Amino acid sequence: MFISYDLQVICHCGHTVSEPPVPCGTEIKCAYPCVRPRPPCGHPRTPHLCHEDPTPCPPCVYLTEKLCACGKTMVGNIRCSQEKVSCGKVCGCPLGCGFHPCEQLCHAGACAPCTTICGKPRKLWYVIVLSLTRRNFRTKSRHV
Ligand SMILES: [Zn+2]
Ligand SMILES: [Zn+2]
Ligand SMILES: [Zn+2]
Ligand SMILES: [Zn+2]
Ligand SMILES: [Zn+2]
Ligand SMILES: [Zn+2]
Repeated sequence: MFISYDLQVICHCGHTVSEPPVPCGTEIKCAYPCVRPRPPCGHPRTPHLCHEDPTPCPPCVYLTEKLCACGKTMVGNIRCSQEKVSCGKVCGCPLGCGFHPCEQLCHAGACAPCTTICGKPRKLWYVIVLSLTRRNFRTKSRHV
């Protein structure tokens, strides 16, 4: 919003001018379309009315194809501005335990640790870790 010396208030596009005296904090309602540049995605701008800073332009509603969060599927009919896209399928990535696939639906980021009650191999692994920790503990306490 520009405030000139004679306190005229001019809207962003310059089509609507409020003549003084203009009360402090007046918001201009301009009936002309926004003239700000296109969104960075390069899609045609969603038509909307002139608005003042710092109000951003509305998010891009252009329907497009986007790669889902798990990165396996291109999902169509997604609004350009939508950030989280899910293909709705089970992730299926092998988990750290090495025995179970991830059972979460399509998600962003790393898979959650395995919550399944794992079979013998995982128990064994636990026993090994436990005995190792115990051994370390004993060795340490002997030194103290
Ligand atoms: Zn305007
Ligand atoms: Zn705008
Ligand atoms: Zn997915
Ligand atoms: Zn866009
Ligand atoms: Zn597992
Ligand atoms: Zn996963």
